[in-house]
Amino acid sequence: MEDDRPAQPGSSADVMSRKGFLQAASRVVAVGVAGGIVASCQSGGQTPSYPVPTSSTYNGAGGQQIPTSPPYSPPANVPDAADKPIELEAWKSDADRKSAPVPSPLPDEERVGYALVGLGHLTLEELLPAFGNCKKSKPVALVSGSPEKLHKVARQYGIKPASCYSYADYDKLKDNPEVQVIYIVLPNSMHAEFTIRGAQAGKHILCEKPMANSSAECQAMIDACKKANRKLMVAYRIQYEPYNRYVREQLQKNEYGKPKFVDAFNCQSSANPKHWRHIKALAGGGALPDIGLYCLNTTRFILGEEPTEVFAYTHSDPDNPLFKEVEEVCSWQMKFPSGLIANCATHYNVHDSRQYRVMTERGWYELENAYAYTGQKLTTSHADGPIVRQENVSIAPKNQFTAEIDYFSTCILDDIAPYSTGEEGLQDQRIMEAIYQSAREGKPVKLPRIDKKDAFRGPEPQLQ
Ligand code: NAD
Repeated sequence: MEDDRPAQPGSSADVMSRKGFLQAASRVVAVGVAGGIVASCQSGGQTPSYPVPTSSTYNGAGGQQIPTSPPYSPPANVPDAADKPIELEAWKSDADRKSAPVPSPLPDEERVGYALVGLGHLTLEELLPAFGNCKKSKPVALVSGSPEKLHKVARQYGIKPASCYSYADYDKLKDNPEVQVIYIVLPNSMHAEFTIRGAQAGKHILCEKPMANSSAECQAMIDACKKANRKLMVAYRIQYEPYNRYVREQLQKNEYGKPKFVDAFNCQSSANPKHWRHIKALAGGGALPDIGLYCLNTTRFILGEEPTEVFAYTHSDPDNPLFKEVEEVCSWQMKFPSGLIANCATHYNVHDSRQYRVMTERGWYELENAYAYTGQKLTTSHADGPIVRQENVSIAPKNQFTAEIDYFSTCILDDIAPYSTGEEGLQDQRIMEAIYQSAREGKPVKLPRIDKKDAFRGPEPQLQ
């Protein structure tokens, strides 16, 4: 039987016969790899690592003489375990940024199956595409009120017709063994009910932010998941996003001294007064729970501290139908046990601006597009003798949704407590309730002092 493996350097097959060489070369052409001569790695008279082409050519369809190279597999470390990356022969110097490890996706049958509930903007524009890069997760079921959307999206993402559910059939997810996680991507007022019913159906829950519309709802969600012995994670994607994680790491190390002041804002413009985001019973509030929450949660996340007091203003233009029920703008300050003050703002009626600056004793970190899906730009500044150094920190891009979803799958596969817990979502809700109370009463509102760092988060995630 002919041995189809490429010759290894130093083996007896290393020196190819002319016939063998021509056969190998034709196989390369057959798989469409035609072209240039590979440079030899020969050095100091040693045996070359790569088989060097002799003067051989392949006859192209038009009679052209195309140079051929012998096929060869350079040395590589190929671990058996699917989740351990293949390590390829290195070729780049340390002068450039290291590339990420080779993706090591789990085989399809070992991945965690997700049911996505709600086929709106986030699911269709971000989440389903993000599953395409997931290594441990796959979409296996959909829940929607629109049979047309269900039909089309199921075909696009290879989901079985039997795994498409209407809201009336939601509880039938219980009988679908492919579904391990329910990802709730519904208007905020529906998060509590669908989480509780999902946990009762025996599924783990990944719930979009804000966790719910009140701290009582958040507590009921936590209790239901505990009772059903199912994991609950709130989808705070920023906590899995590399730039924000980097800022957190630097601050925790006091790289430029202690953090002293945070200035954060997350603003955008909205236009449709009929959308659920402008109906208080569905959204719970306006700009604050929808986008201001990013300033609140991310500030808590990068500092690891909990505020002890808040003071806030809200305002809504009385002539604008968008803001009949929910606030247009909310601006608030938070005081932390270390003495740090955070100044935060969120707006539903200005051109988008999503950034923060953390001022420390001897420097600052400024993250542009801090809360956006892409486009983070990090600048740091500190003095170095007579010089002020401003640096742009560039981190390899990573899809935040992919990172977050795969991290939750790791929690399930390895039985780890999630990082962005239900308690983390509840704490944000409590603080938002204090912010609204302060705005109503026109005075600061105190919160219970919590000295423990990262008091509401699970074990630090090991992200791949
Ligand atoms: P959307 O309006 O685009 O989609 C909501 C979906 O819910 C739609 O498919 C709609 O049909 C369905 N739905 C079911 N019952 C409904 C009802 N009574 N009223 C309105 N819609 C109903 O909203 P979205 O932007 O996809 O947001 C969904 C959730 O995801 C929200 O909780 C939001 O805060 C969150 N979100 C998170 C991020 C993030 O970056 N993590 C980004 C956007 C939205």
